[in-house]
Amino acid sequence: DAAEERFAANNTLSKAQHELAIGSLPGGNTRTLLHTSPFPLCMKQGKGAYVWDLDGHKYLDLVGELSAGLLGHTHPQVQATIRRTLEETGVSLGATTQHEQALAAELCARFRLARVRMTNSGTEANLHALAAARHVTGRRRVVVFSGAYHGAVLSFPNDHAGDAGDAAPAPAPNTVDRADFVVVPRYNDLALARRVIEAADDLAAVLVEPVQGAAGCIPGGREFLAGVREAARSKGAVFILDEVKTSRLAPHGLGAELGLGPDLVTLGKYIGGGLAFGAFGGREEVMRAYDPRVRGSLAHSGTFNNNTLAMSVGRTVLADVYTPDVCVRFNHKGDRFRERLAEVARGSRLSFTGRGSLIGLHFTEDGTEEITCREDVNRKQRTDLRDLFWFEMLEAGFWITRRGVIALILETPDEELDRFVEAVKNFLERHRDIMMV
Ligand code: PLP
Repeated sequence: DAAEERFAANNTLSKAQHELAIGSLPGGNTRTLLHTSPFPLCMKQGKGAYVWDLDGHKYLDLVGELSAGLLGHTHPQVQATIRRTLEETGVSLGATTQHEQALAAELCARFRLARVRMTNSGTEANLHALAAARHVTGRRRVVVFSGAYHGAVLSFPNDHAGDAGDAAPAPAPNTVDRADFVVVPRYNDLALARRVIEAADDLAAVLVEPVQGAAGCIPGGREFLAGVREAARSKGAVFILDEVKTSRLAPHGLGAELGLGPDLVTLGKYIGGGLAFGAFGGREEVMRAYDPRVRGSLAHSGTFNNNTLAMSVGRTVLADVYTPDVCVRFNHKGDRFRERLAEVARGSRLSFTGRGSLIGLHFTEDGTEEITCREDVNRKQRTDLRDLFWFEMLEAGFWITRRGVIALILETPDEELDRFVEAVKNFLERHRDIMMV
């Protein structure tokens, strides 16, 4: 409570802005996840790996726009590409462009896809991937996993309603027909997944994240994911890997790294360099569902699907900035960072999950037991400790999601990561009585 009071006292301009915002936006913003009680911080500016709020506080940005901000704010190559495209091409031409083709070729080569199509978001990419799967199989239902987040209308946890703590509103009504989805009630449980997939009738697709991001950055085991793929194949269902968040974790995407060979892959986030972006692609036989030269194929529309800015920036991101070498080094850095954090937190109620540059923080009663699915998080979570940590990290100058996910930014100086490790250590020492198991 004291930390929350200090927060309110130190952020009077954010508070006033929130009061203004609730006059026209329900709850004060357009992304439920960004709501935090007593009010969300309003950010004013981002530069490199830092953000500044309205009250003038500077933070190291560990939110990284929930992984879409991999390149950091105002990346010079992204800015240069946007300026050049604006000047030379314009924003959107109501036509196909060379930018679109160039990015498509880059995506196919990089993520080993036969064909790809662009969307405005990861959500749309998943919806279109599902439509393609339904089209080619002539079936309807989709197996997903509890804790999964595949986008705004494709959310399957029972508690993914934002960071509002105990006052969290009910999950947003899912506008897709829930009856079309069969939810496996535990991620990382292969025997259970096999049973559910085998028993599912009218099965068009199995859709899975190789790391469950929104659930708490929980990696799927290689055996689990490969087993799910096999189960999908033996049912004749399309195996779709949602790499919207995870394609950053390995040079050719995490599916390639784990040898999963998915039928379809969905992409998004950082590839747009901060602009709205999504894509789905994969095997020719499935992607033919969207070939307008084929009789009876599906229509795929979206005014901004191939907008020139996102197309040209996407190519810059993959070809010039986040090259395979950079990707490998960056994710090693993330692994080392997570290991150091785990070392500092040993014996405490704070533990870490994740892979490479995506890290999940968990505050649990026992602190040590492995977290392999969302149900583990729900059962064991200590939201009081999590919230205390969040308020105190803000005071120490670290911008982090309240529910505890870090998405590292490429340009983050090593000394800043050292400073965070030190801040975590100090937090644990300061609160030994409640933090140590
Ligand atoms: N899939 C996964 C795994 C995600 O993490 C997200 C976004 O967080 C999405 C899909 C949806 O992407 P978008 O927010 O671009 O619609």
